Amino acid sequence: MHIATQDLLAYVRGDLSESVRLQYEAHFVNCKKCLEQVQNAIYLREYSDTIWSSWTAGEHRRAIRQQKLADVLASVLSATPALRNEAQAWIDQVGRGTGNAWRLLLDRTAQITALAQGSVSHGQFEFRLQPVVAGIGSPEGEAEAWKRIVRGSELLANGRFEDAESELKQASALDIRSTGSAEGTLDHCGRRLVDLSVDAHRGSVLIKSRSLQEGACGFAVLIPEQEGLDGMVAVFDAITEEAYALAEFRDVPSGRYSVEFSPSVTVD
Ligand SMILES: [Zn+2]
Repeated sequence: MHIATQDLLAYVRGDLSESVRLQYEAHFVNCKKCLEQVQNAIYLREYSDTIWSSWTAGEHRRAIRQQKLADVLASVLSATPALRNEAQAWIDQVGRGTGNAWRLLLDRTAQITALAQGSVSHGQFEFRLQPVVAGIGSPEGEAEAWKRIVRGSELLANGRFEDAESELKQASALDIRSTGSAEGTLDHCGRRLVDLSVDAHRGSVLIKSRSLQEGACGFAVLIPEQEGLDGMVAVFDAITEEAYALAEFRDVPSGRYSVEFSPSVTVD
């Protein structure tokens, strides 16, 4: 006999008497299913805060990101002659243009991924986020949890703290079982430009571009939104039999990132 979800959540909230708590803990020792469920609930409960704070980036985080992009482009300019023109075009674009980006959160230890699509104004470095898929739990649970996390963030941004807390609590109360891969697409005027998939288990970020001009040297950068991680560059290789080019980041460390594209990847 397993512990009911409602009771597991009461355990996570600390709402149980000492004797019931001990009884449940004895059950966790013998029952992997209940243990996993309770660990996941605890994890998401803690994680809601991290997700919210990472998606409402403050000046500090924006400054880090801007600096990292500049660093990555500078390193591309000096280290990879083939990409020099493209990197220079991007540097020229930064400061006046608006680009497309994804924001992603990758935790390889807990195998959790969250992904959002947005546009980025290089002058302001503000994301306007549109959640795509959150790789947490069952598809239904993901959709519901994600909706609540986003709504909670909005409420919090508007100073409605109690409503925000309620949304985030409900997000953390959803049944969370499976793990983290997420997919997103970027369309422009009804045309598919880019597909992105993230796998928290392998630590990979795979990007297909369907709009890269023949002979262009497009690349993507993965920019950490926290300190202590380096930016990464992935170059698109044409898959000749297929109508797309492929770029992959491998062995990506856990963290919060944004993914951006050099001009020739998303420009028509
Ligand atoms: Zn059990």
